[in-house]
Amino acid sequence: MTPVRTAEILAVGSELLTPHRIDSNSLYLTAQLNDIGIDVRSKTVVGDDVRALADQFHQSLGRVDLVVTTGGLGPTSDDVTREGIAEALGLPLVEDEALVMAIRTRFERRGLTMPEANRRQAAVPAGARILANPNGTAPGLWINAGDRVVVLLPGPPREMQPMFEREVRPALMARTTGRRVWRRVIKIAGRSESHVEEIAQPIYGPLASSDVPIETTILASPGVIELHLSARGEDAAAIGAALDRGVTALASSLAASVVSVDGRSIEETIGQLLLSHHSRVAVAESCTGGLVMGRLTDVAGSSAWFVGGVVAYANEVKTGTLGVAPSLIATHGAVSEPVGAAMAEGVRRVLGAEFGLAITGIAGPTGGSPEKPVGTVVIALAHEKGTVTRTLRLGGDRPMVRQHSVVAVLELLRQTLVAPSS
Ligand code: ATP
Ligand code: MG
Repeated sequence: MTPVRTAEILAVGSELLTPHRIDSNSLYLTAQLNDIGIDVRSKTVVGDDVRALADQFHQSLGRVDLVVTTGGLGPTSDDVTREGIAEALGLPLVEDEALVMAIRTRFERRGLTMPEANRRQAAVPAGARILANPNGTAPGLWINAGDRVVVLLPGPPREMQPMFEREVRPALMARTTGRRVWRRVIKIAGRSESHVEEIAQPIYGPLASSDVPIETTILASPGVIELHLSARGEDAAAIGAALDRGVTALASSLAASVVSVDGRSIEETIGQLLLSHHSRVAVAESCTGGLVMGRLTDVAGSSAWFVGGVVAYANEVKTGTLGVAPSLIATHGAVSEPVGAAMAEGVRRVLGAEFGLAITGIAGPTGGSPEKPVGTVVIALAHEKGTVTRTLRLGGDRPMVRQHSVVAVLELLRQTLVAPSS
């Protein structure tokens, strides 16, 4: 049997061409296929249209060893995947008696009679192998088209995923070369994408042409840059060692800005650092309205190191609850380093934590002024050795400014916790 090395994914469904539904199945399938060494060459979204689907499928099958479709296997007339694929492959649709029985039984078990429409789901391209769907009525299908493979999966993720794992993955593994894709992720905070690129490029450039070629990709999100290293091959030990060497070289050149090399988020590393310092943190948030606390409490077990916080949006909460002197606000404005420092010190004192964090800023789109434009954000950290403040000038819209502020204040805490003197 010819091995399966390459794949294309077709997500079928007109709703996926609207702004209301997103094709997430292809993300799941790409991860699964990569994991067993199959490269995904392209992903396409096609509407519920037999012609469009048959055309697209025909092209895909001409390029790769495996085509996986999701969606459009339901009983209604807008579910056209079976027809489109059968037409493109020149296979007749034949009703599978055992399948009619299985679908009928599924309805009867719930005390219902099978609607005639569901018969359509038992019409399968001749020669197809049926993939059982314990979580729905739409069966999946496996079709051998010469030495290529075609797999049709249902659209709902809770039906598609178990079917892939139980039936498709093992059958595909029997057709792969044993070659796999291995990955490592380095998370970096406090540096821009171009800055990371500048430092990392001289290292990952040569990695790409070494004995075990390592591919590096940079992914940016507000405040955090990820370097993804991947290598393909069969020898797990050799590839693992090569990736480890690459990670070590890159991580040491990026030094203190490396958050983790094992997938952990900033807040997870903060939790571990606070535990090892036997310390806890409290948070005062103005323009981020609780987003920092949300991130910290996303981490399971955060009660061991997160005390709580105050959303100090109105000035009277800053003064009343956190004890910020009204004269500071009158003199410097609510978005200022003196007020940020007083908020961090206040929340640390009021809630009895070793570390106090604060954010006060102008997220926009309104509220800016010439000397404090939208995107001006003050972050502060108070602890027993004193208080640190920084003024950030962030770009982007309101959600961007808020996300960036959250990461910046978390990174300020992380940096303080990893610093040898803390
Ligand atoms: P059904 O029997 O449920 O109709 P189906 O195979 O026909 O199964 P679709 O009708 O295409 O599936 O999709 C059903 C639902 O599954 C969609 O409304 C959507 O919520 C989800 N879905 C479909 N395709 C995708 C996709 N590519 N990514 C994420 N969800 C999807
Ligand atoms: Mg459908």
